[in-house]
Amino acid sequence: MKIICTKCGSTNIICEVWMNPNTGEIHHFSDESLEYEACWDCNEYCLLTDVDDTKETLQELYKSFKGSNKREPGYLHCDVMKKDGMKGVNVYIKIGKTGIADKTYGIDSIYTCKDLDELSSLCDFNKHGFSIVNCICFM
Ligand SMILES: [Zn+2]
Repeated sequence: MKIICTKCGSTNIICEVWMNPNTGEIHHFSDESLEYEACWDCNEYCLLTDVDDTKETLQELYKSFKGSNKREPGYLHCDVMKKDGMKGVNVYIKIGKTGIADKTYGIDSIYTCKDLDELSSLCDFNKHGFSIVNCICFM
């Protein structure tokens, strides 16, 4: 598990947890607890993301897409968190030169990556100004 601040990439963060107050034992934290929690480095509330969990979902969706479509996907439909703190919901990221024209779907993609490895790296803190925080499906 690697949970980071989507603004600065720091792991110096805190979030709400469900715990047994008698023992202090942490039971779990919910997906909602990653939204608008605090980063000590930004010194403010921000959205956190579980990088490994997002990458895992990406791989599962990819295998599933390849299994049922017998081709490489042309786009990832996903949610992103931008460095300015704005959430991008239902955005598309184009994947390499798959031969699928934007006109096919009438899609405006926010970014074009060269392959699945680069796409996966976008789930982590990166230089492109946004991080993928939720993978919806491949197209
Ligand atoms: Zn931060």
